[in-house]
Amino acid sequence: MTSTTTAATTLPTPMCEFRGVDRRYLDGDRLVHALSGLSLSIAPGEFVAVMGPSGSGKSTLLNLAGGLDEPTSGQVLVDGTDLAALDPTELAALRRRRVGYVFQRLNLIPALTAIENVMLPLELDGQSVRTARSAARTALGDAGIAELADRYPDDLSGGQQQRVAIARALVGERRLLLADEPTGALDTVTGESVLELLAARAAAGVSVVLVTHEPRFASFADRVITLRDGLLVQPSGAARLGVAQ
Ligand code: ADP
Ligand code: MG
Repeated sequence: MTSTTTAATTLPTPMCEFRGVDRRYLDGDRLVHALSGLSLSIAPGEFVAVMGPSGSGKSTLLNLAGGLDEPTSGQVLVDGTDLAALDPTELAALRRRRVGYVFQRLNLIPALTAIENVMLPLELDGQSVRTARSAARTALGDAGIAELADRYPDDLSGGQQQRVAIARALVGERRLLLADEPTGALDTVTGESVLELLAARAAAGVSVVLVTHEPRFASFADRVITLRDGLLVQPSGAARLGVAQ
Protein backbone atom coordinates (compact mmCIF):
# COMPACT_ATOMS: atom_id res chain seq x y z
CA MET A 1 0.00 0.00 0.00
CA THR A 2 2.83 2.37 0.79
CA SER A 3 4.95 1.57 -2.26
CA THR A 4 6.14 4.52 -4.32
CA THR A 5 4.27 3.10 -7.31
CA THR A 6 0.98 3.42 -5.46
CA ALA A 7 1.84 6.93 -4.31
CA ALA A 8 2.77 7.95 -7.86
CA THR A 9 -0.42 6.59 -9.38
CA THR A 10 -2.62 8.38 -6.84
CA LEU A 11 -1.18 11.84 -7.61
CA PRO A 12 -3.93 14.04 -9.02
CA THR A 13 -3.76 14.92 -12.71
CA PRO A 14 -2.19 18.39 -13.00
CA MET A 15 -4.72 21.05 -13.94
CA CYS A 16 -2.14 22.52 -16.30
CA GLU A 17 1.13 21.07 -17.51
CA PHE A 18 3.86 22.38 -19.82
CA ARG A 19 6.26 19.78 -21.22
CA GLY A 20 9.38 21.23 -22.82
CA VAL A 21 7.45 24.09 -24.38
CA ASP A 22 9.10 26.45 -26.87
CA ARG A 23 7.27 29.41 -28.37
CA ARG A 24 9.18 31.31 -31.02
CA TYR A 25 7.92 34.28 -32.98
CA LEU A 26 9.26 35.75 -36.15
CA ASP A 27 9.33 39.48 -35.55
CA GLY A 28 10.29 40.87 -38.96
CA ASP A 29 13.46 38.90 -39.69
CA ARG A 30 14.29 38.53 -35.99
CA LEU A 31 13.52 35.24 -34.22
CA VAL A 32 12.14 35.88 -30.72
CA HIS A 33 12.32 33.07 -28.17
CA ALA A 34 9.27 34.02 -26.09
CA LEU A 35 9.50 30.73 -24.14
CA SER A 36 12.34 28.20 -24.24
CA GLY A 37 12.02 24.64 -22.96
CA LEU A 38 9.47 25.47 -20.28
CA SER A 39 8.32 22.57 -18.11
CA LEU A 40 5.81 23.29 -15.39
CA SER A 41 3.06 21.46 -13.55
CA ILE A 42 0.22 23.18 -11.73
CA ALA A 43 -1.89 21.07 -9.38
CA PRO A 44 -5.64 21.38 -8.84
CA GLY A 45 -6.19 24.14 -6.29
CA GLU A 46 -2.66 25.49 -6.60
CA PHE A 47 -2.09 29.25 -6.76
CA VAL A 48 0.99 30.14 -8.83
CA ALA A 49 2.29 33.68 -9.32
CA VAL A 50 4.37 34.41 -12.43
CA MET A 51 6.87 37.24 -12.22
CA GLY A 52 9.57 38.56 -14.51
CA PRO A 53 10.50 41.67 -16.47
CA SER A 54 8.50 42.98 -19.40
CA GLY A 55 9.01 40.76 -22.46
CA SER A 56 10.09 37.71 -20.41
CA GLY A 57 7.24 35.52 -21.71
CA LYS A 58 4.58 35.83 -18.98
CA SER A 59 1.64 36.59 -21.27
CA THR A 60 2.84 33.96 -23.73
CA LEU A 61 2.70 31.40 -20.89
CA LEU A 62 -0.89 32.36 -20.03
CA ASN A 63 -1.99 32.37 -23.68
CA LEU A 64 -0.55 28.87 -24.17
CA ALA A 65 -2.12 27.61 -20.91
CA GLY A 66 -5.53 28.81 -22.09
CA GLY A 67 -5.24 27.47 -25.63
CA LEU A 68 -5.22 30.96 -27.15
CA ASP A 69 -1.82 30.25 -28.68
CA GLU A 70 0.05 27.11 -29.75
CA PRO A 71 3.58 26.06 -28.83
CA THR A 72 6.24 25.91 -31.56
CA SER A 73 7.31 22.63 -29.94
CA GLY A 74 6.50 20.76 -26.74
CA GLN A 75 3.11 20.03 -25.21
CA VAL A 76 0.54 21.94 -23.18
CA LEU A 77 -1.99 19.83 -21.26
CA VAL A 78 -5.08 21.09 -19.47
CA ASP A 79 -6.70 18.67 -17.04
CA GLY A 80 -4.73 15.85 -18.67
CA THR A 81 -5.71 16.70 -22.25
CA ASP A 82 -3.01 17.65 -24.76
CA LEU A 83 -4.44 20.78 -26.39
CA ALA A 84 -2.79 19.83 -29.71
CA ALA A 85 -5.00 16.72 -29.82
CA LEU A 86 -8.20 18.78 -29.87
CA ASP A 87 -9.92 19.99 -33.02
CA PRO A 88 -10.94 23.69 -33.10
CA THR A 89 -14.48 22.96 -31.84
CA GLU A 90 -13.23 20.86 -28.93
CA LEU A 91 -10.59 23.48 -28.07
CA ALA A 92 -13.20 26.25 -28.09
CA ALA A 93 -15.45 24.16 -25.82
CA LEU A 94 -12.59 23.49 -23.37
CA ARG A 95 -11.74 27.21 -23.32
CA ARG A 96 -15.36 28.12 -22.59
CA ARG A 97 -16.00 25.43 -19.97
CA ARG A 98 -12.76 24.81 -18.11
CA VAL A 99 -10.64 27.96 -18.40
CA GLY A 100 -11.34 31.53 -17.28
CA TYR A 101 -9.35 34.68 -18.05
CA VAL A 102 -9.05 37.98 -16.27
CA PHE A 103 -7.13 40.63 -18.17
CA GLN A 104 -5.94 44.02 -17.04
CA ARG A 105 -8.62 45.55 -19.24
CA LEU A 106 -11.61 43.81 -17.74
CA ASN A 107 -13.78 43.89 -20.87
CA LEU A 108 -17.04 44.05 -18.92
CA ILE A 109 -19.93 44.98 -21.20
CA PRO A 110 -21.28 48.36 -20.01
CA ALA A 111 -24.83 47.78 -21.29
CA LEU A 112 -25.20 44.61 -19.21
CA THR A 113 -25.65 44.36 -15.43
CA ALA A 114 -23.10 42.51 -13.33
CA ILE A 115 -25.10 39.28 -13.37
CA GLU A 116 -25.77 39.55 -17.11
CA ASN A 117 -22.02 39.94 -17.70
CA VAL A 118 -21.37 36.79 -15.64
CA MET A 119 -24.17 34.83 -17.37
CA LEU A 120 -22.90 35.65 -20.84
CA PRO A 121 -20.25 32.92 -21.28
CA LEU A 122 -22.78 30.25 -20.26
CA GLU A 123 -25.45 31.61 -22.59
CA LEU A 124 -22.91 31.71 -25.42
CA ASP A 125 -22.25 28.06 -24.58
CA GLY A 126 -25.91 27.26 -25.21
CA GLN A 127 -27.14 27.03 -21.62
CA SER A 128 -30.62 28.24 -20.73
CA VAL A 129 -31.09 31.69 -19.21
CA ARG A 130 -32.42 30.02 -16.08
CA THR A 131 -29.35 27.77 -15.67
CA ALA A 132 -26.98 30.62 -16.52
CA ARG A 133 -28.63 32.97 -14.03
CA SER A 134 -28.44 30.42 -11.23
CA ALA A 135 -24.73 29.69 -11.91
CA ALA A 136 -23.99 33.43 -12.17
CA ARG A 137 -25.61 34.04 -8.78
CA THR A 138 -23.37 31.37 -7.27
CA ALA A 139 -20.26 32.87 -8.92
CA LEU A 140 -21.14 36.40 -7.74
CA GLY A 141 -21.67 35.02 -4.23
CA ASP A 142 -18.29 33.23 -4.36
CA ALA A 143 -16.76 36.57 -5.40
CA GLY A 144 -18.41 38.26 -2.39
CA ILE A 145 -20.63 40.59 -4.43
CA ALA A 146 -24.03 38.87 -4.57
CA GLU A 147 -25.71 42.16 -3.66
CA LEU A 148 -24.27 43.93 -6.73
CA ALA A 149 -25.92 41.58 -9.25
CA ASP A 150 -28.20 44.19 -10.79
CA ARG A 151 -25.72 47.07 -10.94
CA TYR A 152 -24.09 48.23 -14.17
CA PRO A 153 -20.27 48.27 -14.44
CA ASP A 154 -20.18 52.09 -14.47
CA ASP A 155 -21.85 52.11 -11.03
CA LEU A 156 -19.18 49.85 -9.52
CA SER A 157 -15.77 50.69 -8.05
CA GLY A 158 -12.61 49.35 -9.70
CA GLY A 159 -12.33 46.57 -7.12
CA GLN A 160 -15.99 45.61 -7.55
CA GLN A 161 -15.59 45.50 -11.34
CA GLN A 162 -12.56 43.28 -10.82
CA ARG A 163 -14.70 40.87 -8.77
CA VAL A 164 -17.34 40.78 -11.50
CA ALA A 165 -14.61 39.92 -14.02
CA ILE A 166 -13.35 37.13 -11.74
CA ALA A 167 -16.92 35.82 -11.24
CA ARG A 168 -17.35 35.79 -15.03
CA ALA A 169 -14.03 33.95 -15.41
CA LEU A 170 -15.07 31.28 -12.90
CA VAL A 171 -18.78 30.82 -13.59
CA GLY A 172 -19.89 27.24 -14.17
CA GLU A 173 -17.35 24.43 -14.13
CA ARG A 174 -14.21 26.43 -14.87
CA ARG A 175 -11.27 25.15 -12.81
CA LEU A 176 -8.30 27.08 -14.24
CA LEU A 177 -8.13 30.83 -13.75
CA LEU A 178 -5.55 32.75 -15.78
CA ALA A 179 -5.08 36.34 -14.65
CA ASP A 180 -2.72 38.74 -16.46
CA GLU A 181 -1.88 41.63 -14.12
CA PRO A 182 -5.50 41.98 -12.97
CA THR A 183 -4.47 44.28 -10.14
CA GLY A 184 -2.70 46.74 -12.44
CA ALA A 185 -5.24 49.52 -12.08
CA LEU A 186 -6.09 48.96 -8.42
CA ASP A 187 -4.78 50.64 -5.28
CA THR A 188 -2.91 48.43 -2.82
CA VAL A 189 -5.78 47.77 -0.41
CA THR A 190 -8.23 46.92 -3.19
CA GLY A 191 -5.57 44.85 -4.94
CA GLU A 192 -4.97 42.84 -1.78
CA SER A 193 -8.70 42.15 -1.36
CA VAL A 194 -8.78 40.84 -4.95
CA LEU A 195 -5.75 38.65 -4.15
CA GLU A 196 -7.55 37.31 -1.06
CA LEU A 197 -10.44 36.38 -3.34
CA LEU A 198 -8.11 34.55 -5.76
CA ALA A 199 -6.49 32.70 -2.83
CA ALA A 200 -9.95 31.72 -1.53
CA ARG A 201 -10.97 30.37 -4.94
CA ALA A 202 -7.71 28.38 -5.05
CA ALA A 203 -8.50 26.99 -1.58
CA ALA A 204 -11.87 25.92 -3.04
CA GLY A 205 -10.06 23.89 -5.72
CA VAL A 206 -9.51 26.29 -8.62
CA SER A 207 -5.97 26.41 -10.05
CA VAL A 208 -4.91 30.06 -10.35
CA VAL A 209 -2.06 31.42 -12.48
CA LEU A 210 -1.48 35.10 -11.76
CA VAL A 211 0.94 37.37 -13.61
CA THR A 212 1.99 40.23 -11.38
CA HIS A 213 4.82 42.72 -10.96
CA GLU A 214 4.07 43.20 -7.27
CA PRO A 215 6.02 41.00 -4.80
CA ARG A 216 3.36 41.91 -2.23
CA PHE A 217 0.66 40.33 -4.41
CA ALA A 218 2.85 37.37 -5.37
CA SER A 219 3.18 36.56 -1.66
CA PHE A 220 -0.45 35.37 -1.68
CA ALA A 221 0.51 32.50 -3.99
CA ASP A 222 1.53 28.96 -2.99
CA ARG A 223 4.45 29.21 -5.42
CA VAL A 224 6.19 32.00 -7.29
CA ILE A 225 7.93 31.33 -10.59
CA THR A 226 10.11 33.87 -12.36
CA LEU A 227 10.75 34.10 -16.08
CA ARG A 228 13.66 35.84 -17.74
CA ASP A 229 14.11 35.88 -21.53
CA GLY A 230 11.66 32.99 -21.86
CA LEU A 231 13.48 30.81 -19.34
CA LEU A 232 12.40 29.72 -15.89
CA VAL A 233 14.70 31.29 -13.30
CA GLN A 234 15.50 28.78 -10.58
CA PRO A 235 14.74 29.91 -7.01
CA SER A 236 17.76 31.93 -5.85
CA GLY A 237 18.10 30.01 -2.57
CA ALA A 238 18.34 26.67 -4.36
CA ALA A 239 20.69 28.10 -6.99
CA ARG A 240 22.97 29.54 -4.32
CA LEU A 241 23.09 26.23 -2.46
CA GLY A 242 23.55 24.29 -5.67
CA VAL A 243 20.40 22.25 -4.95
CA ALA A 244 19.21 20.23 -7.94
CA GLN A 245 15.66 21.13 -8.96
P1 ADP B 1 5.57 39.60 -21.02
O1 ADP B 1 4.10 39.29 -20.88
O2 ADP B 1 6.43 38.95 -19.98
O3 ADP B 1 5.82 41.08 -21.09
P2 ADP B 1 5.28 38.41 -23.67
O4 ADP B 1 4.92 36.99 -23.40
O5 ADP B 1 4.17 39.32 -24.06
O6 ADP B 1 6.09 38.99 -22.41
O7 ADP B 1 6.38 38.45 -24.83
C1 ADP B 1 7.57 37.68 -24.78
C2 ADP B 1 8.41 38.01 -26.00
O8 ADP B 1 7.74 37.56 -27.18
C3 ADP B 1 8.65 39.51 -26.20
O9 ADP B 1 9.94 39.68 -26.73
C4 ADP B 1 7.59 39.88 -27.21
O10 ADP B 1 8.01 41.00 -27.97
C5 ADP B 1 7.49 38.64 -28.06
N1 ADP B 1 6.17 38.46 -28.66
C6 ADP B 1 5.02 38.21 -27.97
N2 ADP B 1 3.98 38.08 -28.82
C7 ADP B 1 4.50 38.24 -30.08
C8 ADP B 1 3.94 38.21 -31.41
N3 ADP B 1 2.63 37.97 -31.61
N4 ADP B 1 4.78 38.44 -32.45
C9 ADP B 1 6.10 38.66 -32.26
N5 ADP B 1 6.69 38.69 -31.04
C10 ADP B 1 5.90 38.49 -29.97
MG1 MG C 1 2.47 40.56 -20.57
